[in-house]
Amino acid sequence: MQHFNEEKTLIVIGGGAAGFFCAVNAARLAPKLKVIILEKSSKVLAKVKVSGGGRCNVTHHCFDVNELIKKYPRGKNFLKKELFQFTPKDTVEWFERRGIALKTEADGRMFPVTNSSQSIIDCLLQEATKYKVHLRLYSSVQKIFKDENKWIVDLGMEKLQADFICVACGGFPKLQQFDWLQNLQHKIDPPVPSLFTFNIPGNSVTSLMGVSVQRAQVKVLGTKLNEEGPLMITHWGMSGPVVLRLSAWGARTLAEQNYHYKIHVNWLPDFKEHTLREEWNFIRNKHAAQKMNDKNPFELPKRLWQYFLEKAEIPLEMFWSKLPSKQQNKLIQILIADEYEVHGKTTFKEEFVTCGGIALNEIDAQTMQSKLHENLFFAGEILDVDGITGGFNFQHAWASGWVAAKNIVIKAD
Ligand SMILES: Cc1cc2nc3c(=O)[nH]c(=O)nc-3n(C[C@H](O)[C@H](O)[C@H](O)COP(=O)(O)OP(=O)(O)OC[C@H]3O[C@@H](n4cnc5c(N)ncnc54)[C@H](O)[C@@H]3O)c2cc1C
Repeated sequence: MQHFNEEKTLIVIGGGAAGFFCAVNAARLAPKLKVIILEKSSKVLAKVKVSGGGRCNVTHHCFDVNELIKKYPRGKNFLKKELFQFTPKDTVEWFERRGIALKTEADGRMFPVTNSSQSIIDCLLQEATKYKVHLRLYSSVQKIFKDENKWIVDLGMEKLQADFICVACGGFPKLQQFDWLQNLQHKIDPPVPSLFTFNIPGNSVTSLMGVSVQRAQVKVLGTKLNEEGPLMITHWGMSGPVVLRLSAWGARTLAEQNYHYKIHVNWLPDFKEHTLREEWNFIRNKHAAQKMNDKNPFELPKRLWQYFLEKAEIPLEMFWSKLPSKQQNKLIQILIADEYEVHGKTTFKEEFVTCGGIALNEIDAQTMQSKLHENLFFAGEILDVDGITGGFNFQHAWASGWVAAKNIVIKAD
């Protein structure tokens, strides 16, 4: 049995947010542990660099874990155990203690006050230097396996030995990309994209590109998927937080439907059809002497209102008092349950994540250790965890990396 004062080695596979957080925390907490990060590409922390439009949405100002876990479509029970150990407040304090202050925007997203993801990268790199973490670029791990008590990491031309492994290689969009991990016999939930926008090809609504509303309710027909929030019309279909949230919650369902389904948009989410009908006569009488195009009583964007009038075959010059009941019904229907056929998706460039990965029931959420193999840990997006936009994905990366580090250090002692 090896003693702690004999050097033990931790190899972290992947130089992303989760891998770095595991490596720098383990190296700091266990100065005698040799920590190596293996990164297959020429750069570490590449996603951190581009994240949040170059500003890095580090975490979310949601310090209540029971609320926080509601932002993750998959893995709630697992996340609860993980995130209680390292909350967004811990993330804020961790970076602040290292001179990186974070600020909160109106919607709760937290960014470095510098507005630059480079501050986060510099902080993690300085920490790695300070605690002597060995960084190896162009080191693509081909396979990992156990040889007696040691882990062997196969880099193709070279094999390295380790006491502990933390797999933090991020999410992979294709199942074959998990092949190098197959021999570990962990179940892999097949990957599908999360956080994408809806394509509505050939629909005239796309002529309104750039128009947005602060609140719309969108339902995917034939499913329970139903969200409310800001919606934006793009030149290919619909986007905005409400669509992204639906894509995250419905990642699997929508993939099964091959991204072909119908949606209903309620442009007036404060109303249901019957409540709008109840209100309608009042609205109509109030604006009787005005032209429909001139008086939009719902404060919808002008171009959108005109589009609805045209869709309901209502001449723009028509007076409210003269609106025939057929067109009136059509307009009410459009306002409350405007139907669109979605065909295809577009990946959201600001924040793309994969749904799927290493199945959570084979990982101990208290430690991030594999339940199948001792001294094998996982952190970050490789796990079947993904959050909606807003800093939740990085929060999982920091928290899982930290939990893995803490438990590796305990075991190394
Ligand atoms: C454009 C974009 C913007 C985003 N913005 C935000 C944001 O603002 N806020 C937020 O919360 N989330 C954001 N996300 C999501 C977030 O970036 C990820 O969830 C997070 O980076 C996952 O961290 P990770 O360390 O698990 O994986 P990654 O960051 O993907 O890192 C994994 C690393 O492992 C390496 N690797 C893979 N396989 C091997 C191998 N076999 N051997 C060696 N190395 C390997 C990869 O090259 C990579 O460097 C964004 C994502 C994208 C794509």
